[in-house]
Amino acid sequence: MADVDLPSPIRGILLDAGLETEAPPERRIFTNRDLNLERIGLIGFDMDYTLAIYRQDALERVSIEATVDKLIGRGYPEALRTAEHDPRFAIRGLTVDKQLGNVIKMDRHGYVGRAYHGRRVLASEERRAVYREQRLGHEHERFAPVDTLFALPEVTLYAVVVDMLDEHPELFSARDKPSYAEVYQDVRECIDASHQDGSIKDLIKANPERYIERDPDLPKTLHKFRSAGKRLFLLTNSYFPYSDAVMSYLLGGEPSYPDWTAYFDWIVVGSKKPGFFTRSEPFQELDRSGKRIGAPRQDVQRGKLYEGGNHSALQASFDAYGDEVLYIGDHIYGDIVRSKKSSGWRTALVVQELHQEIAVRRARGMTLREISSLHRLRSEIAEKISVQRHLMRALGRIEPGDVAASGDMDVAEATEMLDATKVRIKGRFDRLRRYEQETTDTLERRSQEVDEAFNPYWGSSFAERHDTSRFGSQVEAFACIYTSRVSNLQFISPSRYFMSPHGSLPHWL
Ligand code: IMP
Ligand code: MG
Repeated sequence: MADVDLPSPIRGILLDAGLETEAPPERRIFTNRDLNLERIGLIGFDMDYTLAIYRQDALERVSIEATVDKLIGRGYPEALRTAEHDPRFAIRGLTVDKQLGNVIKMDRHGYVGRAYHGRRVLASEERRAVYREQRLGHEHERFAPVDTLFALPEVTLYAVVVDMLDEHPELFSARDKPSYAEVYQDVRECIDASHQDGSIKDLIKANPERYIERDPDLPKTLHKFRSAGKRLFLLTNSYFPYSDAVMSYLLGGEPSYPDWTAYFDWIVVGSKKPGFFTRSEPFQELDRSGKRIGAPRQDVQRGKLYEGGNHSALQASFDAYGDEVLYIGDHIYGDIVRSKKSSGWRTALVVQELHQEIAVRRARGMTLREISSLHRLRSEIAEKISVQRHLMRALGRIEPGDVAASGDMDVAEATEMLDATKVRIKGRFDRLRRYEQETTDTLERRSQEVDEAFNPYWGSSFAERHDTSRFGSQVEAFACIYTSRVSNLQFISPSRYFMSPHGSLPHWL
């Protein structure tokens, strides 16, 4: 609608009332499954990494420091304090192989496309030796998925400790040398404790601007949907004091709202997602200072603040069908997969990384187009090569006598004809093989260039080689829509009909 020719005073009024404007490419909303906002009466929000956009480097630094303190307390080497770590090493969508000390990236079929042992890349032979023929994914004992940005520091730290264990085993002599799986467990427990004992949250509360980006467009985006008659709710795993601090920072100071709670019709903190969607924990009402009011209960009322709870009781108080609720979260499993499967809620995924992903795709558009045509070319050549190979084998089985009989000529003539044909076909075969090699080399070089721009260790989060990554395919399968931040909703009308660009199978062209 941005191209509609309207006098600017009228346009201003319509924009305030929800007229669509064109979003910058990095802020667009993408559709996997049709979603008509006209039919959505309630919009729920997760808090951390959804409404609150964390400054990843700063949060990772304090998460690692707090965790290292605890690991050293458990007897890990002091050297961990000064060990170098590259924040680019971990991205969302990876999987940790706890048993082998590896971090791996899978494509949508569950095949491992890249792997590191600690921070040392596994060459393809080494990688295939370990993971060939293996379709991975569901062995919970051995593999840990990296589903949220909160999990990145533990991956970075795990790789650092694995390297230290391999390169300086003597540093571990003070205690029993842990196995790779024990290292993972220790890192997991220490980071878990750091989230719960205030080591991370106290720092954030004291200096929110250092760790959280205050998005100036967020209050008006929420206001726009409220004005259009949507009811909003907050459903977060963070507990009250922290949620209160973060939400006040994000939404406080708006003249038309007395405080952040006024944006929401229901507020649920400490919700224990994904269990929230499948269990029947009671709700505990809290007052505005976070103190408990009354006994735990199963029924909920609009306009109140609760801790804990469960999906079915919350849904009952909505007085709406599950598919009239849109839940916006960042956790591919806890917020999106679980809510879609268990609640029937429609889902929107916030993927902070999408901003950079789109910027790189735009900047490298020409190379990406070249890669996809080189890829098509290579499969065309491969097909031709297999035809020639088959032809050469067939020629090898023909006897000069057969040719002589078929062509009514003598055997010497037939032998000459057969040999000349073989030489010609072999020549063509060799030319095709050289062409294939050149195409593969160029393809490799170009792919490396763009991978480097996405992430030097892993390439794009959404792609693996020439296919969708496991993370990319989860986004596609579970999120009805996805975007880089909540305030991107400011660019669309509250009655927008998101239409999926229909599915695709190889034969659909
Ligand atoms: P949500 O995204 O708003 O539902 O809240 C996520 C909450 O989970 C935040 O309070 C995080 O600090 C917390 N969190 C993230 N990772 C961990 C962990 O490993 N252990 C405990 N809490 C965590
Ligand atoms: Mg979250």
